[in-house]
Amino acid sequence: MNTLIKNLADSCRFKIGETYTNRKGEKCTIKDIRLTFSASGEWIATKYVVAHTFMGQEIFEYDVCDSTIAKASTCKHGYVAKECKLEGVAL
Ligand SMILES: [Zn+2]
Repeated sequence: MNTLIKNLADSCRFKIGETYTNRKGEKCTIKDIRLTFSASGEWIATKYVVAHTFMGQEIFEYDVCDSTIAKASTCKHGYVAKECKLEGVAL
């Protein structure tokens, strides 16, 4: 993989292999990250490729936004769970 692209993918908030539960209650795994560039080389969009298992088959979604995963991953304190510094703190 191109090093620049790998570094950009690594800088995305969510990483390949991370899991979360979506609002339909499906356990989703991030399978890939799609980065979109303009003709001038500007990084303009990030989309996640996500899969969940249904009846023994992996069902893929190719156009999942960072904010969709962030909302699905919100902890009881209102943060994206993996960024929360209050875990173990009761509300
Ligand atoms: Zn929390």
